[in-house]
Amino acid sequence: MAVDFLYPPYEVIRNMDRCISCRACERQCANEVHKYDVDFGHMVSDESKCVNCHRCVSLCPTRALKIVKTDHTFKENANWTGKAITEVYRQAGTGGVLLSSMGNPEPYPIYWDKLLINASQVTNPSIDPLREPMETRTFLGKKPGKIVRDETGRLVPNLAPQLELSIPVMFSAMSYGSISYNAHASLARAAQALGIYYNTGEGGLHQDFYQYGPNTIVQVASGRFGVHKDYLNTAAAIEIKMGQGAKPGIGGHLPGLKVGPDISRTRMIPEGTDAISPAPHHDIYSIEDLRQLVFSLKEATNYQKPVIVKIAAVHNVAAIASGIARSGADIIAIDGYRGGTGAAPTRIRDNVGIPIELALAAVDQRLRDEGIRDQVSVVAAGSIRSSADLLKAIALGADAVYIGTAALLALGCHLCRSCQAGKCNWGIATQRPDLVRRLNPDIGVQRLVNLVTAWDHELKEMMGGMGINSIEALRGNRLMLRGIGLNQKELEILGVKYAGE
Ligand code: SF4
Ligand code: SF4
Repeated sequence: MAVDFLYPPYEVIRNMDRCISCRACERQCANEVHKYDVDFGHMVSDESKCVNCHRCVSLCPTRALKIVKTDHTFKENANWTGKAITEVYRQAGTGGVLLSSMGNPEPYPIYWDKLLINASQVTNPSIDPLREPMETRTFLGKKPGKIVRDETGRLVPNLAPQLELSIPVMFSAMSYGSISYNAHASLARAAQALGIYYNTGEGGLHQDFYQYGPNTIVQVASGRFGVHKDYLNTAAAIEIKMGQGAKPGIGGHLPGLKVGPDISRTRMIPEGTDAISPAPHHDIYSIEDLRQLVFSLKEATNYQKPVIVKIAAVHNVAAIASGIARSGADIIAIDGYRGGTGAAPTRIRDNVGIPIELALAAVDQRLRDEGIRDQVSVVAAGSIRSSADLLKAIALGADAVYIGTAALLALGCHLCRSCQAGKCNWGIATQRPDLVRRLNPDIGVQRLVNLVTAWDHELKEMMGGMGINSIEALRGNRLMLRGIGLNQKELEILGVKYAGE
């Protein structure tokens, strides 16, 4: 019926003078946009299927292709935008929940871009990181409240298990199932090469990746997929996933068609069945319940591994974090509403949760006010895009950050935001063997190492400019930040002064 016709959002522009009909685009596009028309003797496109992933554009040998946003438009206004109208048509046609991937794209404020960094001038000279030592090594875990000595005066070691990071960056939880084997291999090997950690997400740990255990954080989520004693003991740390920034308050869903033999073995579920993780942990309804799980996991791993509790940034986040700090957890990870996902209901992704910047500042302040900041480390997540965001996160109180989308971009993701379809043309968010092969883990590792190394250089440069030579001195140092374009309440929550003050 004509009412169902929606003009495609993107147009495929083919320069026919350059196109040599080599059909590379046809082979590269898993969405079957391109095909060779024998009658016409040239390539044609069905742009209604294009998700603007740039795979064909990147691999066209004659640079004959480009994808442009259509200028076809609804008679929209500020209230009824083209997006809003299209979504109503789609739901009226299907009766279904709209699904999306990656992070919240709505134009809410990005507070990182409203915070400016200080630099030394005249007094308190800057430090040249090329000539002077600069410490970006970070330890995550409980710090001892006091120094304890035995009767002979010797120090009694009372340090809880720690994670040691060469730079305060880790790769966020992304499950095997939501991303491919080769993407996981790249993250695991890059974490090892960099001296940092990657996170299995809730999909279990593939047998091949046990060798990277010392650089692995394993997740225990509400579905308990792939959780067993060896899984816990292989890892450097265990993360209890209570929430995720892209979809706070709901569980996860990996469709059965993505659950092939390897994923079924890793997740310990039958092949072809939907992997549905419930919204709550059915054994956690209070901080006391959480404490029981924290200590069960510690007990199962002989008190050798730090336990992380990951939550989504929501309205009452500071009080929640205070409870988690008292539950015995070693690290709290907070995921802001711009955090990515392989699939989430669009309405939830775009409307639930709060910005990581405000959540982080509120949590750090609350833990300090209550005198329990040393009992937990704080990891910030949810769209850390650059070394500047990283530095600002640490100055707002984070001990380290998780990066997910930035890591996928390094692997070749073009943010087409169609991960939920399982046809990622870059071999990242797919389980189709022909597509997975497109991601070469050797290249993936190199690109991830390059990204994090570049951020490390930039971080040191900015810290040097501020006259700071260690992460320790930057952490929670909000005097090093100034706000711009922020109202009084926002400045108060962020704990920063206005530029010029
Ligand atoms: S979906 Fe990607 S590969 Fe296919 S036509 Fe669009 S940009 Fe090209
Ligand atoms: S991972 Fe793949 S499918 Fe997902 S946004 Fe990136 S390129 Fe698109």
